[in-house]
Amino acid sequence: MNEHIEGVELSSLIDGALDAAARARAAAHLSACAPCRAELESLRAFKRLAADAPRRALPADLALRLERRHVAAPPWALLTRPRVWAPAGALAAAALAAALWLRSTQAPAELPLEPLVAAHEAAAGQTLTPEPVLVASADADSAALLADDGAGGSAE
Ligand SMILES: [Zn+2]
Repeated sequence: MNEHIEGVELSSLIDGALDAAARARAAAHLSACAPCRAELESLRAFKRLAADAPRRALPADLALRLERRHVAAPPWALLTRPRVWAPAGALAAAALAAALWLRSTQAPAELPLEPLVAAHEAAAGQTLTPEPVLVASADADSAALLADDGAGGSAE
């Protein structure tokens, strides 16, 4: 009872995921421990914030670049155009192959990675990434901790 309530247990309390015994234990501790009450309120506020946070849209220029890179018409799309087949014979086939080769070499050689990395770092810097302990339900280790806590939690 002297131990402070762990973040994962506070999180479970907020989520209504504690069993009756753990809930009663937490309530008893919270009634006597201001730091844990503050932590509970902070966590509750964070969860509200995370739940209400708007999702960031992909920047238009980045979306366009990705689309150009990955959703461009594939070379074989040319083959489905009837007029490509109009010139028959080996020479035409060779010309077609050359055209396809030219087309593929004229495609953007590579997507510049720096803007992607910079954008990712900027977004990561702005995002409140929860501690692993706060996302117990999505984390196998923490889930195991929870399971252990459920089995032997009364020992605390
Ligand atoms: Zn406490």
